[in-house]
Order: sequence, then C-alpha cells, then structure tokens
Amino acid sequence: MNERVLIVGSGIAGMCTALALSSKGFQVQMLERDSAPPEGDADNAFFDWQRRGAAQFRHPHAFLGLMCNLLEENYPDLLEEFYAAGARRIEFQDMLSPELESQYVPAPGDEKLWVLMCRRAIIETVLRRYVERLPDIEILNGIHIDGLITEPRGRSLRAVGVRVRRDCVAEFGETLHADVIVDASGRTTHFPRWLEAQGAPVTEENDAAEIVYYTRHYRLNPGVSEPPRGGKERSAGDLGYLKFGVFPGDNGNFAIIVCLHNGEAELREAVKDGSSFDAICRSIPGVAPWLQEGQFVATTEPFGIGDIRAVWRHFVVDGRPLATNFFAVGDAALRTNPLYGRGCSTGILHAHLLAEVLSEVSDPISRALVFDQRTEAEIRPIFTASLREDQNGIKRALASHQDMPLEQGKSLKSWLGLAFGDALAYAARNNLHVLRGMLRTVNLLEKPGDFLKDSRTRLIILGYMLRGRKNNATARVQNGPDRQQMLELVGDQSIA
Ligand SMILES: Cc1cc2nc3c(=O)[nH]c(=O)nc-3n(C[C@H](O)[C@H](O)[C@H](O)COP(=O)(O)OP(=O)(O)OC[C@H]3O[C@@H](n4cnc5c(N)ncnc54)[C@H](O)[C@@H]3O)c2cc1C
Repeated sequence: MNERVLIVGSGIAGMCTALALSSKGFQVQMLERDSAPPEGDADNAFFDWQRRGAAQFRHPHAFLGLMCNLLEENYPDLLEEFYAAGARRIEFQDMLSPELESQYVPAPGDEKLWVLMCRRAIIETVLRRYVERLPDIEILNGIHIDGLITEPRGRSLRAVGVRVRRDCVAEFGETLHADVIVDASGRTTHFPRWLEAQGAPVTEENDAAEIVYYTRHYRLNPGVSEPPRGGKERSAGDLGYLKFGVFPGDNGNFAIIVCLHNGEAELREAVKDGSSFDAICRSIPGVAPWLQEGQFVATTEPFGIGDIRAVWRHFVVDGRPLATNFFAVGDAALRTNPLYGRGCSTGILHAHLLAEVLSEVSDPISRALVFDQRTEAEIRPIFTASLREDQNGIKRALASHQDMPLEQGKSLKSWLGLAFGDALAYAARNNLHVLRGMLRTVNLLEKPGDFLKDSRTRLIILGYMLRGRKNNATARVQNGPDRQQMLELVGDQSIA
C-alpha cells in the first residue's frame, strides 16, 4: 500500500483510524489543532491539557465491551499500557449483585462482557503515545485545518488535500495533499460546510436529545474503598425529570453526572453550584454512598455541556458519493447521546470499517459506496436504538415536568409492551441468562435487542410477566426524590 492518508483530528476515532490503517500498510499523517498531551501521568493530562478541540474531554466516559474487545483483539499490548496507567478492567462477574454472584457459573461469551474504567485522559494519552511510536504514523500538532481542496471528477468531486488556517501557515505551508482525506474532527466538524460551499451538500438526520449534561469529579480519600457494586439501589438511572450516573474511574477518581431536560430552568441553575450539585446527588439513594462526609474530595466544580444530539450525515446521496477519496469517521460522521456511552465504541468500529474498505477496494467510487453500506449495516441499528431511547427520555421528562402519570398503556398492545418491559427489567436484575443478554446489547456486542430472539430468554421473561405487572414494575422505578421534592431541596439549599 503506497497510499498516503491524511487524517484531520487526533481524537479517539482519528487515532484508531490511524492505528487500523497503519496495520494495513498505509502511510498516515494526522493533523491536530490542539497541543500534544503534557508529560506525566493521568492527572497531568486531566488537569493541565488544553483540549479545546474536544469539549467532552473532561466529562466521564464509559468504555463499552465493543471498544474493549476491538482493542484486545487488535492491540493487546495497548491494553497493558492502559492498565499500567491506572485503567481498570471490570469483568461480567464483577458487575453482579451478591445474589447473582452466588449463582454464577461461567458461560461462553462472558469473556467478552467487560469494560474499562478510567478517565478519558488515560485513554487519549496512552493511545496517543502508542500511536506516536509507530513508524508509519506522523502526528502534527497545533495545525488548524480550514478547508477541503477538491477537483471536479465527473458528476462529483475528488478530494485532494486540505487547507491550513492562516495562523499556522508559516510553520506548515498553505496546503497539504494526500491520496485519501479522513475527517475525524469530531462533533464540530466544518467539512460538511466546506463540501456544501463546493456544491456538494451533505444531508443530515439531526435530532436534539433536549438535555444538558453536567459533571463533577471527585477522589476518594486514601484508604476509602468504593461502595460495593450491584446493590439494591442503582448508581445510574432516570428519575424522569433527572438522569444520573456514577462513573468509577482510575486511581481513586470518580465522577457523577446529572442530566436535565432543557426546560428544567431552576434545577439547571442549581446544579452549577458545587454544594447544590452534591446535595442533589446525596438525595438519590444509589449515589449517596459515594458522597459520604469525610470520605472524598471534589476535584472540580460542576461543569456542563449542551447541544446533545443524535446526528447522522450522508456522504453518499442518491447512490453517488459527494466526494471520492474523502471519508468521515467517528463523531464527524455520526453521533449518539453520550448518556449511553456509545460514541467511542462506534468511532473505533467505524475506524476499522474504513481500514477494511480501503485495503479491500481500490476503485474510489466503490470505496465510498462500500464504506457507506458497511456503516449502515453495522452502526445504523445502534443509532436507531439510541434515537428511540432519546425520544422515550424526552417523553418521560415532559410527563414529569407536567406532573403527568407515566406509561399507563392506552391500548392492549401498548400495555403489553410496557408489561414486557417491566418483566424484562425485573428478569435482568434476577436472572443471569437475561442479564447476560441485556449486557450484550448494552455493550454493543450484538445488534440492539438481538438477545430477545433467544427462546430461553423469552420464556424466562414470560414467566416473570405472569407474576403481574405491579410486582415487576418495581425494577424500573428508581428511588429518589420526585421533582417537587427536588425543587424544594435546591430551594432550601440556596437559602442556606
Ligand atoms: C459529554 C459527553 C460525554 C461522553 N461520554 C461518552 C462515554 O461515556 N462513552 C463513549 O464511548 N463516548 C462518549 N462520548 C462520545 C465520545 O466522546 C465521542 O464519540 C468520541 O470522542 C468521538 O471521537 P472523535 O475522534 O470522532 O472526536 P473527538 O474525540 O472529539 O476528536 C476530534 C479531534 O479533532 C480535532 N479537530 C477538530 N477540528 C479540527 C480542525 N479544524 N483541524 C485540526 N484538528 C481538529 C480536535 O481537537 C479533536 O482532537 C461523550 C460525548 C460527550 C459530549
């Protein structure tokens, strides 16, 4: 392979694209607007690295089974470097409640049900140092790309290079050329705008999740252990008006997220204040054990991020690529609500799909079409499931805001659907076989919901349905204050 590939953006998807392409023999140059990570450990990177190009850098990340298994299959030595930096490998057995753990017998496939727990700072810095050592990859930092250079080719365009922003020109020149250009510049990509300006408009599916996402980071004091996993009260869930989650991290660090519907003005204001944020979290039984007096320190103030959307961009329109030799991966191509922790996994999968296509197919038009088809086949089901979850989340938040009862089931069909959902939630808490299936879906190790095609799983769930909806419904209810109680709590907090 003598082709030179230029990747714009050295975030998670960019670096994984570089890795995957270099393993297939391509020469890769990466162009990154931000500086390289600072010397030192995860704390140096977390606290000191100016990461303006990836606004989500300091928000906690879950690294799901899909990503973990892809890394393990392709770069096992990289995983060792993650562990050495403090990342933890959490296996299926570690996720079980004490009751389920007592019944646990290993089954085929359990070895794939694992996740990494650490701050994104570890993943990015370790990945970055690993990529830098590879001879076929060059990373240029501090280079801001400001345009796509194309030539007309039949009825479409052919990408031939990128334009460098004026303030970087002295160092890097005005343009850089390559055989293939990859947009890995993330959620704020400008490539669609540049394509449109050249007469090739990218069509876009774009749905707001209508939430704002707030984070605060903490560290357990020396000698303090994490609260046990798998207890009755869950450390992540949905109170209707507020979604929450604890992210255990590396080296005693952990983070808590609180997500609020855009319309929750009072709570959104309150959550920006550190003591109100903590008070809100302590009022939720599944989160409170993490914030016991004297056991932790807060390492940041709360901070938020908005513009949470499900976005899917089409670079092949009416069966024709908008530009050949141009590909978008990761968030630049598609993104899902971060609440589900899927972006890095779909980004790495996308990177590997691109490397496969570029090494298997040489005709430029066929490359674009095959990449588009494989992206649709592999990632569209995940995107569709995420969008459906967003729509249900919005309905729950609005019902809660208007103090309306939730999910009654107006027709027999919808009542049955809800009864099935309750039974599934109950079964996943009490039955290992169902939990395994559900975690395969959560970790993107199979197409969403595929485990429900299994007849044993269906029979178990049916058995739980026969217990009656009232019994099962408890599994979906999260303990915590209702909206009115929470508003009173933050009101008292602001008076204090
Ligand atoms: C709040 C939040 C929480 C999240 N939580 C999770 C989670 O728990 N699990 C998970 O898997 N995913 C999560 N995600 C999604 C995940 O962060 C992204 O899917 C992932 O980072 C995408 O990788 P990427 O390489 O496409 O983009 P990024 O990682 O954003 O990288 C883009 C890179 O391009 C560079 N760049 C941008 N423009 C230019 C330019 N013009 N010139 C040169 N360089 C440029 C940027 O500096 C950056 O380095 C979360 C996202 C958000 C917003």
